[in-house]
Amino acid sequence: MFHKVLIANRGEIAVRIIRACKELGVRTIAVYSEADRDSMHARLADEAICIGPAPAVRSYLNIPAIMAAAEVADAEAIHPGYGFLAENAEFAEIVLESGYAWIGPPPAAMRTMGDKVRAKQAMKKAGVPVVPGSDGPVATPDEALEIARAIGFPVIIKAAAGGGGRGMKVVRSEPALPHAVMMAQSEAQAAFGDGAVFVEKFLERPRHIEVQVLADRHGNIVHLFERECSLQRNHQKVLEEAPSPFLDDDTRKRLCEAAVAAARAVGYENAGTVEFLVTPDKQFYFIEMNTRLQVEHPITEEITGIDLVEWQLRVAAGEKLPFRQEDIAIRGHAMECRINAEDPFSFRPSPGKVELWHAPGGRSVRVDSHLYTGYTIPPHYDSMIAKVIAHAHNREKCIRRMQRALEELAVLGVTTNVELHRRLLANPDFQRGEFDVHFLERWLAQVLGHAG
Ligand code: ADP
Repeated sequence: MFHKVLIANRGEIAVRIIRACKELGVRTIAVYSEADRDSMHARLADEAICIGPAPAVRSYLNIPAIMAAAEVADAEAIHPGYGFLAENAEFAEIVLESGYAWIGPPPAAMRTMGDKVRAKQAMKKAGVPVVPGSDGPVATPDEALEIARAIGFPVIIKAAAGGGGRGMKVVRSEPALPHAVMMAQSEAQAAFGDGAVFVEKFLERPRHIEVQVLADRHGNIVHLFERECSLQRNHQKVLEEAPSPFLDDDTRKRLCEAAVAAARAVGYENAGTVEFLVTPDKQFYFIEMNTRLQVEHPITEEITGIDLVEWQLRVAAGEKLPFRQEDIAIRGHAMECRINAEDPFSFRPSPGKVELWHAPGGRSVRVDSHLYTGYTIPPHYDSMIAKVIAHAHNREKCIRRMQRALEELAVLGVTTNVELHRRLLANPDFQRGEFDVHFLERWLAQVLGHAG
C-alpha cells in the first residue's frame, strides 16, 4: 500500500478520500485554494498545501501547482476525486510520467470513453447495446437528415466532446434539423474546442440507470450492481437510490453484464460507472462511461458492503480483487439526498456562513460532508454541501429512514434544498417508484405553478 497520497480535490469528496486513507494507515496531503484555508479537508489531512487563488482554473485545475505540491510533499500517488481534473487524461498521463501512481483508470481508457463517438463505436464492437444513430460524427445537415429519416424522429444531436449535460439538442421534426445541426456544431466548437456532433434516436421517458464496476490490474472485473439516477434537474442528479425499483432480476443481470463487457472492451482498471438509458419496455442502451469515482458511490457501498475508495487505492497499488462476482450481493436498499446550499425552488446558490450545522445520526444513516458550525461556504465552487445516505432492508423503510434523517438535519445561516427532498420523498409517484428522467422537472413545474 502507498505511504502517502495527495488528494487533488476539495469539499466532501476530499474528506471522504482522506477518511479512507486514514483507515488504511496512509498519510494524506490536501491541496487547497486561498478560499479554502479553513476548509475541513485541509484540516483533516496530515499535510496541507495551498495551490493558488480561489478560481478553480488557478488552483484545483492548475496542473503545475498540483504537481509541485506532490513533489514538495513527496507523494506516492494522486487521487483526483470527481469533477476538476478527474476525467482529464492528460493530467493522468502527467501524473504517471512524473512517477506517481494514478488512482484511476489508464489514460487510454479515459480517452476512449471521453469521446462519445469513439466510446459508442467501441461499445458497439463489444456487443453493448447503443442508442441507434450515426456511426460517427455527421459532417453536414444533409447527412444528419438521412440518418434521422432512417431512425425516425425525434432525434437528439450531441457533441462528441460534450459532458455535464451540455451540448445536446432534441429535434422533433425534419424542418428543424438542418439549423439545429449547424447550431450544435458551432456551439460544440465554442464550448469544447471540438465541433464534432452526432445524431441518435431520442428516447421518450427513459430512466437513467448506471452500473458501478471495479477492476484490478490482473484482468478481474466485477460489477457492484446498479444505481437509479433518473431524478435529475438540468441533467444534475438530485436523489439517487440502489437498487433501481424498476429492474427485474433478468434485466438487472443483462445490464450489469453489459457494463462489465463495456469496461473490459476498453481495458478498464479501478472504479468506474457505465451509464445506460432504460426505456419503459426495459430495453437498455449505453450512453457513456464515467471514468472516475462518482458523487453517488456511497449508496453502492451501503448495499454491497464494499468500500469503493479503499478498493480504488488497493487496486491502484497493484492488489488483486479478493472477491468474485458471485461473492457480491445486494443487501437492502439505499438512498442519497444531495444537500445543496441553494434555494429549493429557484435554485439560486446560497453561499455564506454556516451558523449551525447539525448532522443526523442513528442507525444506518451516513452523512458525507465537509461542513462544520462557523464554516463559510465560498461562492466559487459547487453548491453541494452534504450527502445524506440512508440504508434499510427495503425501499419503504429506506424512505422513512431518510425522512426522519432529514427531520434531524439542521443547517442555519444559509438556505438549503432540504425542503425539495422532503416534498419529493412524500410524493406518491416517487413512493411507488414510478418516474423517468423528466419526472423531476415536470413535478417542479407543477409545484412552482401552484406556488405562483
Ligand atoms: P452528459 O455527458 O452531458 O452527461 P449523457 O450522454 O450522459 O450526457 O446524457 C445526459 C442525459 O441526457 C441523460 O441522462 C438523458 O436524460 C438525456 N439523454 C441523452 N441521450 C438521450 C437520448 N438518446 N434520448 C433521450 N434522452 C437522452
